[in-house]
Amino acid sequence: MSDDCIFCQILQGEAPCYHVHETRYTRTFLDIFPAAPGHCLIVTKDHYQDIFAATPESIAMVGHVSTLIAHAVKQELQCEGVGIFQLNGAAAGQTVFHYHMHVIPRNSGEDLAIHSRVPGDTGELEAMAARLHARAMSMRTED
Ligand code: 5GP
Ligand code: ZN
Repeated sequence: MSDDCIFCQILQGEAPCYHVHETRYTRTFLDIFPAAPGHCLIVTKDHYQDIFAATPESIAMVGHVSTLIAHAVKQELQCEGVGIFQLNGAAAGQTVFHYHMHVIPRNSGEDLAIHSRVPGDTGELEAMAARLHARAMSMRTED
């Protein structure tokens, strides 16, 4: 837990989020500046700055959940592809220093940017989170 970390604040319930999925080790919620509708972030429940600080177990769990979220996103949104990636260090473009994975629906012809500066519409984010949550819940996963 890091006091000045926005993802820790979300995990503590001190800041809102558009919830999609939860395990003992991870939370998944929508990126509020979506690179595409349905852009999800999978975050570790413990605060690790980046891949160099995170434990192998937490990294593996984020990877495991990213597979589930990729399937949920693809099935629910019927996108052509799904981008899964994460950034480590400011030099790599990381902007929130709490280990996380991006899962972004992709369709041909669309901009492949990782970050957007445009906030998503709150009503659309809410509806999207509900759809992806329901889809993820309908899929088999492990603890
Ligand atoms: P990074 O650049 O560190 O890989 O990704 C951080 C992501 O967090 C960005 O895509 C950014 O849009 C997103 N983000 C920043 N602040 C918030 C927030 O308060 N809530 C949510 N849900 N996402 C955020
Ligand atoms: Zn944190």
